[in-house]
Amino acid sequence: MFNLAGKIAFISGGTKGIGKGIARVLKQAGAITIIAGTDTVRGEAIAKELAVDFIPLDVTDQTACKNVIDKIIEKYGRLDILCSNAGIFPQHYLKDMTAEDWDLVHTVNLKGTFFLVQAALNVMEKQRYGRVVITSSITGEITGISGYSHYGASKAGQLGFMRSAALEYAGQGITINAVMPGMIMTEGLTAFGDEFPNHMKDAIPMQTLGMPEDIGYAACFLASDEAKYITGQTIVVDGGQVLPEMQEA
Ligand code: NAP
Repeated sequence: MFNLAGKIAFISGGTKGIGKGIARVLKQAGAITIIAGTDTVRGEAIAKELAVDFIPLDVTDQTACKNVIDKIIEKYGRLDILCSNAGIFPQHYLKDMTAEDWDLVHTVNLKGTFFLVQAALNVMEKQRYGRVVITSSITGEITGISGYSHYGASKAGQLGFMRSAALEYAGQGITINAVMPGMIMTEGLTAFGDEFPNHMKDAIPMQTLGMPEDIGYAACFLASDEAKYITGQTIVVDGGQVLPEMQEA
């Protein structure tokens, strides 16, 4: 496990699912860990469970994103690691998709990433040190799912954002990378019904969904000092889901 002892790490959407898994792993690696989400009651309960701190945050509010980073600097003195992970994935088939459906997904997933990463970079630039890890997806950049054209566009958009941002900050001790999860067992998947994980297994060569911590380990690597020469890159964590060229016999 990579050693993050003494690093200050902030994870948006750290109160559930993948973000909670990232928080658990970064904390295990020694980071002083802070999680955020919109649900304060849940956030405080999860913070207690993981022995981390919680700050309420809606990533769609640019001022709130700036204020949260200011609060972290005030309390901890620096911010070493930002995991921009908050995201939503409501299903809307294209024929019925409204402008509001489109905007909500893009506002949380893409604009929220822009707001929070920009706010963090402003302090990381002064430190001349920072690790930004964005939770994107295989959806959009590599695969598609019916009912997720807005979501796929937002997740591919995060990668376009990440690559240009990585270039802008490459000379300043700051790396910006992304993890691309496949199908990960999280609270967010419960909306698809009890049978969904079983049904999905058949599409995954490893025959099992990933766990939130599987994304946490990839994020931990990208957040480590050892990953200092990697920027603007992605790691697919999907149990081989994107590999098959044909249905195996
Ligand atoms: P989840 O279980 O539904 O958790 C989503 C997290 O995001 C929660 O902590 C939630 O906290 C937070 N969140 C949602 N809207 C927010 C907002 N406006 N401001 C701040 N926080 C907000 O989802 P998940 O499955 O863990 O997904 C997490 C990320 O991984 C997303 O970016 C998703 O696109 C990506 N991903 C997931 C999978 C998968 O298979 N699960 C695959 C690929 C990519 P509150 O409820 O408190 O707001």
